[in-house]
Amino acid sequence: MRESADNIGMQRGRFLVCGISAAACFALPAIAQANPETWQLWLERLDDGEQVISPFTRDGRTLYFPGYKKLCKVLRDDHVPIYEGWVKIPIRTIEVLWDVQQYLAGAGIHEPLVVHSGYRTPQTNASTEGAAWMSLHMFGKAVDFHVRGVSISDLADICRSCPVAGGVGYYPEGWVHIDTGPVRSWTA
Ligand SMILES: [Zn+2]
Repeated sequence: MRESADNIGMQRGRFLVCGISAAACFALPAIAQANPETWQLWLERLDDGEQVISPFTRDGRTLYFPGYKKLCKVLRDDHVPIYEGWVKIPIRTIEVLWDVQQYLAGAGIHEPLVVHSGYRTPQTNASTEGAAWMSLHMFGKAVDFHVRGVSISDLADICRSCPVAGGVGYYPEGWVHIDTGPVRSWTA
């Protein structure tokens, strides 16, 4: 059970959409006070190299749906063809990734977050080696990723210092797990 600490999905809510219905949750000072030019997220999919740079807000407070939708599509399940649809990733997850990317940009690292695994269907999760049976990935609340030019160890440290992150898992074989559950940390 490599992701046993990730096994708290049941308490975190069943509906992926719940995260975007509460506009107040989106009004984080970190985003509202940031330079509007930075209100975007740069993601890349590990499986096919697809990249998206997209703004998810126009004013730092409310969602910019077209941009948000593009990001959700990049975070889709690897095993679900895009024509079968996409799921609404909780905005809190987007915020966490944005915060990590802002930190990296501040350190002079301008690279996409390379996503190994974002949303997972229950079927995909069940067939994922080491995945927690109620993984936060099934709720769109967890992302596994790496960043070119940044060691996994350093990336884990950066994620742990992210004030809006919950759990952070360090996977030395090549990625970091970050989620929006309770604050915790583990090494695989
Ligand atoms: Zn994970």
